[in-house]
Amino acid sequence: MQIGVVGAGVTGLFTALVLQQRGYQVTVFDTTNRPYSADYGLCLSPAAQLTPLLSGLVDFTQALLKAGLSQSETLFFDADSIHGNRTESTAGLITPLLIRSSTLLGLLRASLRPGTVVPDVVPQGIHQQHGLVELEYSAHRSWHGELLLAADGLHSRTLDLLEVERPLIDLGQRFWRALAEDDSLLRGGALHRYGSQDTLRLTAFDVGPDSCGCEQTHWCLFIASSAVRGSSRLDSVTQRSFPRGALQGLPESIVQMIQSTDPSTVMTGRIMDAEPLNQLVYGNVAVLGDAAHPMAPTQARGVSSGFEDAVELADSLDRHRHDLAAALGDFQQRRLPVVKQQQRLSRQEQGVGCSGSA
Ligand SMILES: Cc1cc2nc3c(=O)[nH]c(=O)nc-3n(C[C@H](O)[C@H](O)[C@H](O)COP(=O)(O)OP(=O)(O)OC[C@H]3O[C@@H](n4cnc5c(N)ncnc54)[C@H](O)[C@@H]3O)c2cc1C
Repeated sequence: MQIGVVGAGVTGLFTALVLQQRGYQVTVFDTTNRPYSADYGLCLSPAAQLTPLLSGLVDFTQALLKAGLSQSETLFFDADSIHGNRTESTAGLITPLLIRSSTLLGLLRASLRPGTVVPDVVPQGIHQQHGLVELEYSAHRSWHGELLLAADGLHSRTLDLLEVERPLIDLGQRFWRALAEDDSLLRGGALHRYGSQDTLRLTAFDVGPDSCGCEQTHWCLFIASSAVRGSSRLDSVTQRSFPRGALQGLPESIVQMIQSTDPSTVMTGRIMDAEPLNQLVYGNVAVLGDAAHPMAPTQARGVSSGFEDAVELADSLDRHRHDLAAALGDFQQRRLPVVKQQQRLSRQEQGVGCSGSA
């Protein structure tokens, strides 16, 4: 079976890897040819239940565990107690894994067959007929196959081409995130969260040394959009400076680390989600990852949820080897209630404040 994947993010690449491993022909299309343009830290949560998801992917799993850091301790600071509460994590696969986005994407790409990812592809049309699907893209070129997977993220163009309405919802928070040089503050797999009971202000965690041996810490600052709108200090061109007072009350060492970050590497954006879709399958097209179920990063579940989509889809295809419609129906029936629940929970936590990691 020929399978096309739109989007070479973590969901698209992981799905391609799982499907290739099970013997399917897979091609991944992405708009960009610069896969690692923005680098930041990801916390792959223990709720991810990574072990069953990685089953059969021995080399990738070994490389992932070698490259990532097992979260060794978690410190929760609230406004009243800057000394925080400490919880120790036990080492092993169920421990949250702290990793750079570029490292995860690089490992996934390196695990795929050469030539799997086709860059610079801008989808322009999706046509379905007689059990086949055609993806039309730039310069009158197209791909044909039996199954197309949409894994093109929050602003999915594929959903637009399928004429699926899925308005994004702004949850009223902005984020700023980057990697800072830090050889002493958050080392050895440490993760810190700063906030009060109902508001998360900052998440910071160790991501280990970069390729030059320089120790780095990921930080992500959350600020209510209302505070940003009222700020005269926000640089409207780059949106990279935060409003006055954003760092107030945080420990001086953390403030210094944030302020020492190269401003050109700081990314900002809005926290968005969407109402759950009523279906994940549209003929011979299935929607996966953030394209299907964007959620607030309150539970650090985004990546693992995309991984779960991939494994559920591959299992459904295996169960119905000669009946694609049955396989896709099975996938949708199993996965839809789960992702709806994940979206609901993430929204709820966002509503009462992001108490999870991000
Ligand atoms: C502030 C913040 C912190 C987060 N922290 C965590 C965390 O710690 N742990 C965690 O698990 N999750 C976290 N998440 C969520 C996580 O980043 C996402 O869930 C995850 O990246 C989704 O992966 P994806 O591959 O589905 O989509 P994306 O990562 O968005 O990838 C989409 C891919 O599709 C490509 N693309 C886009 N449009 C097209 C098109 N038209 N044609 C072809 N290709 C296209 C893009 O170039 C990209 O490669 C966080 C999110 C935010 C906002």
